[in-house]
Amino acid sequence: MTSNSTTPNKPTPTGPGRNREAAGAPARRPRPKRGEGQWALGYREPLNANEQFKKDDDALNVRARIENIYALRGFDSIDPSDLSGRFRWWGLYTQRKPGYDGGKTAALEPHELDDRYFMMRVRTDGALLGPEQLRALGSASTEFARDTADITDRQNIQYHWVAVEDVPAIWQRLEAVGLETQEACGDSPRPFLGSPVAGVAADEIIDGSPALREIKQRFIGNPAFSNLPRKFKTALTGHPSHDVAPEVNDVSFVGTVHPEHGPGFDLWVGGGLSTNPMLAQKLGVWIPLDEVADAWEGVAGIFRDYGYRRLRSRARLKFLVADWGVEKFRSILEDEYLDRRLVDCPSPASPRVAGDHVGVHRQKDGAFYVGAAPTVGRVSGTLLSRLGDLVEEYGAQGVRLTAYQKLVVLGVAEDKVDAFVAALDGIGLSARPSNWRKNTMACTGIEFCKLAIVDTKNRAAALVDELERRFPDLDTPITVNVNGCPNACARTQVADIGLKGQLVLDEDGRQVEGFQVHLGGGLGLDPVFGKKLRAHKVTSAGLDDYVTAVVHAFLADREGDETFQDWVLR
Ligand code: SF4
Repeated sequence: MTSNSTTPNKPTPTGPGRNREAAGAPARRPRPKRGEGQWALGYREPLNANEQFKKDDDALNVRARIENIYALRGFDSIDPSDLSGRFRWWGLYTQRKPGYDGGKTAALEPHELDDRYFMMRVRTDGALLGPEQLRALGSASTEFARDTADITDRQNIQYHWVAVEDVPAIWQRLEAVGLETQEACGDSPRPFLGSPVAGVAADEIIDGSPALREIKQRFIGNPAFSNLPRKFKTALTGHPSHDVAPEVNDVSFVGTVHPEHGPGFDLWVGGGLSTNPMLAQKLGVWIPLDEVADAWEGVAGIFRDYGYRRLRSRARLKFLVADWGVEKFRSILEDEYLDRRLVDCPSPASPRVAGDHVGVHRQKDGAFYVGAAPTVGRVSGTLLSRLGDLVEEYGAQGVRLTAYQKLVVLGVAEDKVDAFVAALDGIGLSARPSNWRKNTMACTGIEFCKLAIVDTKNRAAALVDELERRFPDLDTPITVNVNGCPNACARTQVADIGLKGQLVLDEDGRQVEGFQVHLGGGLGLDPVFGKKLRAHKVTSAGLDDYVTAVVHAFLADREGDETFQDWVLR
């Protein structure tokens, strides 16, 4: 336990929630608004370095230079504005130079941490991965990425240790089976989240897969959307468990049923986490499947044209939605982008708990889908290839990745389920994991991420092992999301126990890796951001004991079937 953490009994709300007038301070005068760089208001001149390099050359054009120059001449030939800017549009970031820990990096700029190797993201966009695709993903990793592969909570496969010389060969390998890295990062339409059980779940409202395919086909790699103010995250699900975290995406389509028109999608906009977390606002509309792509184009168009570009920290759709309000957003969408009125429809009911699909479940066609939990999303190229072999051997339909760093195998015949589950176990994928293995996520962290302050993947995996030993029979789910910095890539604020990496003081007053704790966050029926309790800071070394103390306090104090979140918020 850290010297500056409190004993983690039931948390109480912390201090300064009072407004200034109540506290006796004079009211602030509203400041005059400065131009935010919104194109639709006539601001076309770049107001920062990112806007400048995007204007200088469409970031998608960097692919030709990678193939024709950089891959042939090597890392040192890469133009700096491509290296730190446009490479991202093809899913490439320089990874963190090995050997720097949190304390040492405090005084360094991110570019000083550049390694000569890249992290590469491969987007899956909710698609089904068959044996060929899994083996291509696997072999690209074993040949070109030192057998690294992580399943991210945006349904990507993420490699590390990629040399620029090998990038064209990786693209060739992946594109031959319909996979790509285009716009997997950058100020662009990032990889889409789709329901992992689309088309097979017995309780599905509507299968949104055709709409995701259409959005991808029309807009990914389309120069009309390759210069957005910043990242733009899409989620779409027709499953009642809202299995794609739609509350925290820039644009989400969520299955709903109109009393006259039948199944369709509500539209939610402006969600996002990071340092200014906001939940998406619901338009309360009904959009039929074949009009989803047009609605997506309208929302992305609003972001492109009206989104704030002056400050990177304000260049997300959520700030525009917060300033406009949902009614103005809807009317701009209807009047300027769709040229028609959207159909009103009550927003769908939220699930008690968002769906992760881990375990064995019957499909509507009588076959089964099997959700398995790699620890904190970490797999390997070898494992992906073996998974491809298993899918083929058992005649399963294929694999989808989840928004929780897990995977789901679809279409397993009833008489093969037991053997298949055992075979998955044999390659390290449990379909019956403990609470901790199932409900813990971790971002990339200091091992590879230049923004990280602390280690995450390895620390979280060790935490899972220890909590399984200490609480082998936990009877209620508790989620733990481990993040290496405030950017919240593993969704710090919406876990029961959310951990944000930062330097903290240990018992001897030394700065060491640790976490700011957020407690009681969650999505679904009661979406709420976890309470950031200033006194709840824990060293990385003290994390096992901290979580243990919190869980013991919850188990001792809970009433009836109270959840962890209910207990924190009581
Ligand atoms: Fe990197 Fe921070 Fe995102 Fe983790 S949360 S992957 S440390 S930017």
